[in-house]
Amino acid sequence: MTDQTETIREIRINPIVPSESVLVSTARGMRPRKDENPAPRDTRKHVDRCPFCTGNETMTPPTVAAAPDDKHWEVRVVENLYPVLGDDSTSSNLVFGLQQAIDGYGRHEVIIDHQEHGIAVHEMSEQHIFLLTGMYRDRIRALYAADERIQYVLIFKNFGPAAGASIPHTHSQVIAMPVVPENVHNEVVHSRHYFEKNRQCVFCSLVDEALTFEATIYDRESGSVRRKIDVGQYVIERGRHFVAIKPFASRYEWEVHILPLQHQSDFLEISDAERRDFAGVLKRTMGRLDAVIGGAQYNYFLHSIPHNNEFSDCSDSYHWHLEICPRTSIPTGFELGSGLFVSTISPEDAARQLRAANPE
Ligand SMILES: [Zn+2]
Ligand SMILES: [Zn+2]
Ligand SMILES: [Zn+2]
Repeated sequence: MTDQTETIREIRINPIVPSESVLVSTARGMRPRKDENPAPRDTRKHVDRCPFCTGNETMTPPTVAAAPDDKHWEVRVVENLYPVLGDDSTSSNLVFGLQQAIDGYGRHEVIIDHQEHGIAVHEMSEQHIFLLTGMYRDRIRALYAADERIQYVLIFKNFGPAAGASIPHTHSQVIAMPVVPENVHNEVVHSRHYFEKNRQCVFCSLVDEALTFEATIYDRESGSVRRKIDVGQYVIERGRHFVAIKPFASRYEWEVHILPLQHQSDFLEISDAERRDFAGVLKRTMGRLDAVIGGAQYNYFLHSIPHNNEFSDCSDSYHWHLEICPRTSIPTGFELGSGLFVSTISPEDAARQLRAANPE
């Protein structure tokens, strides 16, 4: 069990992608500069001149999709006005933030997540998050179907100026690309390798491990709780079908991943009942992050099995998940110079604080 006051200094290898590691150092001095306070996020409900607010639909490119319908939309999708990729693109080797050179065909859309300008995910209703994630699924499906050159459809969200959101109105982005982004590629390759060796999905193993650590020992006679085992718990939140975990070797101090409890490689396989549960787990997890770090500004990324021939054999070894990466500090010179991420709070301690948080 990790004691809060105990100093930890160790390099942890990411069990999924072993080439990635993080230096966990809770000693003072690893962050010589005080963390910058992120600029406050925009919490207004409606902004007259915002192109994503209701009444201003003519200020955006035409609607690609809307739910429940075009007129009374709660979630609306438009083409990105400044696409990273376009199907008329003639420029080659655009370098996108995923450290992947992309050449050629692609699509870039914006999902306006909610009518309310500055609403955070944990403030949305579960029903709304259910609608939003249904739109994620529909766009992924539609974009894969639209062109066979598409190998990956990435859904991500930047929330708050510290996370690089250029438009304050809450939104997600969809990028359909002819290559698999490097980090997803690494996860798929390494988890396939793990499966070949262990005949088991590495993500399932990690979920099992996290859940096993959370054990309650009952008294044989009376059935009352005798002791709760509390060894390095990484579980933040769980539902019937999903679990939110603090990774053992996370790059970002408050990074949390949400995974299906039952093995599932493709987000497109999610059932409606599972998606309802996912909405609840996501809302509560975001609420915990917000309660602990205050006005969480973050990026999240949906990682799911790529639709290409190279990875058609990976449905047993890859496991889809949502990576939530809150931006609480700016990278230090050491991190930029070494490529090694530094975490000044141990993942165990972060998980403990998140579990103890009262999201409401
Ligand atoms: Zn707005
Ligand atoms: Zn699995
Ligand atoms: Zn991932």
